[in-house]
Amino acid sequence: MSDRIYDVIIIGGGPGGLTSGIYTGRENLRTLLLDKMLCGGWLNMTGVIENYPGFPEGINGMELGARMKEQAQKFGVGIRELEEVKSVDPSGEMISVETAKEVYKTRSLIVSPGSRVRELGVPGEKEFLGKGVSYCATCDGPLFRDRIVAVIGGGNAALEEALFLTKFVSRVYLIHRRDKFRGEKYVVGELEKNDKVNFVMNSLPVSINGNKDVESITIKNKETGQDELIEVEGVFIFVGVEPNTEFLQGVVEMDEGGFIKTDVNMRSSVPAIFAAGDVRSGNVRQISAACGEGTVAALSVRNLLVEY
Ligand code: NAP
Repeated sequence: MSDRIYDVIIIGGGPGGLTSGIYTGRENLRTLLLDKMLCGGWLNMTGVIENYPGFPEGINGMELGARMKEQAQKFGVGIRELEEVKSVDPSGEMISVETAKEVYKTRSLIVSPGSRVRELGVPGEKEFLGKGVSYCATCDGPLFRDRIVAVIGGGNAALEEALFLTKFVSRVYLIHRRDKFRGEKYVVGELEKNDKVNFVMNSLPVSINGNKDVESITIKNKETGQDELIEVEGVFIFVGVEPNTEFLQGVVEMDEGGFIKTDVNMRSSVPAIFAAGDVRSGNVRQISAACGEGTVAALSVRNLLVEY
């Protein structure tokens, strides 16, 4: 067990967690940030970000994450990467945070472990993962140069990633289960202007097919009930996200999707545990919003520790 007692432990080194760290570090609060991977979170899988204020030309996701990490470290935040939190126990005088390596004690906790991709759950999805099936256009898009691909989903992720893929591929079939997109109209407009994009609406993926690699996708038209086979070499799936909250089951109150419920101060149902970013119930999954929530959580921690 670590004999150091922290003022605050932050779980997750995405924009929410790193912003919290910048604030608590700058307040001279003894801060430890744990990330099961490398800091940056989803930023590491994002190409150019055009809607983060202050960068009119856009900024590369990985670069933005690296800058946030550097800023947190500048204010004395201890960062431990590749250290996954297994459990949290708030029942004692201090909160215990257990990883595979250590048990840490802290006066307060900010939980910002983000979210992960949701699987589609059709035959072929698991079998062809890395053999044509992907959840990350930024990572895998360039591998599909001059090929035909399908993108599944109708939210911002699917729309933006489909647009990004048009830089490389010869054709994108954008397959969505309804007749309207959930994502931004601006991006829909950009896709409509792009002659590499085919919209396949009111259609549900049935299976992803192939031998060694993906060769086609079967979809069912919801209106006609007909199955159709589209020849593609890649299938990019963007059907939403799930929160990384398993280690907090039974500790804090969550909504039916497993997202953490908070009040306006980012306080969870446990008074010294706060949440910020994608993991929070009602979050809008925007970098700027995660930063804002990370700020509020850090200021709430400061107020709590003043009372301590
Ligand atoms: P999302 O908004 O929840 O969209 C998921 C899409 O997948 C929906 O269109 C949904 O269809 C479809 N879907 C879900 N389950 C499906 C299934 N089993 N089969 C077929 N289709 C299925 O998820 P997201 O696009 O990952 O975005 C999540 C959040 O992140 C949103 O708040 C989004 O605005 C935000 N985001 C923002 C940006 C940005 O601002 N740059 C980029 C990416 C994401 P229905 O529409 O019928 O429900």
